[in-house]
Amino acid sequence: MLPELVVASANPDKVEEISAVLSDLVTLIPRPKGAPEVIEDGETLEDNARLKAQAILKATGLPSLSDDTGLSVDVLGGEPGVRSARYSGEEATYQDNVDKLLHNLKGVPPRLRTARFQTVAMICYPDGSEIIATGVVEGTISESRKGDGGFGYDPVFIPYEGDGLTFAEMGEEKHLISHRGRALRNLMEMLRN
Ligand code: IMP
Repeated sequence: MLPELVVASANPDKVEEISAVLSDLVTLIPRPKGAPEVIEDGETLEDNARLKAQAILKATGLPSLSDDTGLSVDVLGGEPGVRSARYSGEEATYQDNVDKLLHNLKGVPPRLRTARFQTVAMICYPDGSEIIATGVVEGTISESRKGDGGFGYDPVFIPYEGDGLTFAEMGEEKHLISHRGRALRNLMEMLRN
């Protein structure tokens, strides 16, 4: 029987990607409607992943799976990093955040637009134990948006391993090289061992 995990994420874009990567390996139980909203005010991706998984574990009593992701842009000193969701303000949309990023990188030449997505994926269990895995993808930030797939910063992120396409120009191939795909597959490897 496949292990059962409650998905702690409230973001439908992330839930879709988690299902695409994991649905053959585990039974994913949707986050219960009405589960308390989590304020992601941790100082690290790991802190935020734990806040989300612990909240859902508390609400359901079942092993809970969370992930937290940040985009780090070298020339911006690692920003937006752990604040990627709220880069341009508390109520920021994906569009607002990408606009702010492109604005802050205006005039920066392509060779200096290096960046990486990092994901921490975590399972928290009722007995207090947890498993944590990470995934990283390196790339650059384009000068304008390209593609309409994916979500978040995907239209401006060009992974080195992707033939020059942004994540938003890819389909399922994104999961093979993405930060989230890698973190989730690493997590499954740890679960098996
Ligand atoms: P979260 O804290 O893990 O929900 O992610 C923070 C923010 O990072 C999200 O609001 C998105 O803007 C962005 N993000 C997370 N994952 C991805 C991704 O796979 N592609 C592009 N942007 C992402």
